[in-house]
Amino acid sequence: MTDSSKSSKTLVRRTPWPGSVSRPVVTPLQPSVVYRSDSPDQLDQQYAGDVSGFTYSREGHPNASVLARKIDMMEGAEGGIAVASGMAAVTAAMLGLLRSGDHVIGGDQLYGRSLRLMSQDLPRFGITTTLADPTDIGAIEAAVQDNTRMILVEVVSNPTLRIADMEGIAALAREKGILLVVDNTFTTPTAYRPFEHGADVIVHSVTKLLAGHSDAMLGYVVARDPAHQEAITGTAVTMGLTASPFDCWLAERGLYSFDLRYRAASENAAALADHLAGLAGVSRVLYPTRPDHPDHNRATALLGGQGGNMVSFEVAGGRAAANALTLAAENIAFAPTLGDIGTTLSHPASSSHRALSAQERATIGISEGFFRVSVGVEPAEMLCKEFGQAVAAAASST
Ligand SMILES: *Cc1c(COP(=O)(O)O)cnc(C)c1O
Repeated sequence: MTDSSKSSKTLVRRTPWPGSVSRPVVTPLQPSVVYRSDSPDQLDQQYAGDVSGFTYSREGHPNASVLARKIDMMEGAEGGIAVASGMAAVTAAMLGLLRSGDHVIGGDQLYGRSLRLMSQDLPRFGITTTLADPTDIGAIEAAVQDNTRMILVEVVSNPTLRIADMEGIAALAREKGILLVVDNTFTTPTAYRPFEHGADVIVHSVTKLLAGHSDAMLGYVVARDPAHQEAITGTAVTMGLTASPFDCWLAERGLYSFDLRYRAASENAAALADHLAGLAGVSRVLYPTRPDHPDHNRATALLGGQGGNMVSFEVAGGRAAANALTLAAENIAFAPTLGDIGTTLSHPASSSHRALSAQERATIGISEGFFRVSVGVEPAEMLCKEFGQAVAAAASST
């Protein structure tokens, strides 16, 4: 026989949250997948949008909303959504707004997986693509077809840090009625706000500088037109591209220090670029605000003098010198990511650009001695000293 007084003591029923007149200062982490309602009527009102509430976390949850509202504010946008990764953001923008028969133009130095999405995945669904050099408006214009529906660009290319002709591309897109999607990961809203320059959609890999601690995998996507946003959000929810509460919670925490981190990292990057340029054994330094950068004038005009946290450089001596450099830079993580609070170093020839032939790499200026640095917030003198030692080790290895 069941004793009804015992049923309230089962472990299975959730214990009520303790009442409290005080509230937590920190945003609570809310991992609940499902949300209970009081009645079918209340659920109806919720779905009709008459009252606000959550139902199922793939469709939305408080931590995603808090994070998305913060990035909306940074971008001067409204109604953006948090998604599971930067690639989920690119995918949601494309699959939400494109249909079979459309044509897309992409920058020829996009993030590697975006290149693969363009060249291998979209064509399987009847969407054709052309890659073109976004620093050359003539090349972009020549790629336009009657069915071109979208252009996807990154303002700063990886790893050669070239600056796209954003004004030219935005004017072309406006004139031809083509949607302009800007991946603002490298630039961040501090250096560039795409909606102020004619973009229709902004995507971010929040994983990188915005979250900033290499412990959350996340993306964000926002469209200027609410109808476009509805299409993107619908696709993201249906295809399961949306974000987990824990990652949103971590990324939100990271954002509180974003301004401080970005300012410190950018100052460090400018100092490190100048230091590297003066070292024997360094054959080339790329940093957007240096006068010897190929797009220096455009960087000054577009980015308001903010060079960002990325520096690329080249040492002589091929793979042997490259190995000596990463081994000597023992306190700097040799890892193919960017935007961490600490400095990381990557070697495109063996990582992001390994699929290209040596000849193809050479045409975009990536040799075995080419490195990309994501500069962090360590003391600048410490970074300059460590890179000085690493470059010296590379030089003496050959
Ligand atoms: C890393 C990155 C992406 C992809 O982001 P994930 O969060 O790794 O999926 C997209 N675009 C750019 C420019 C990136 O650096």
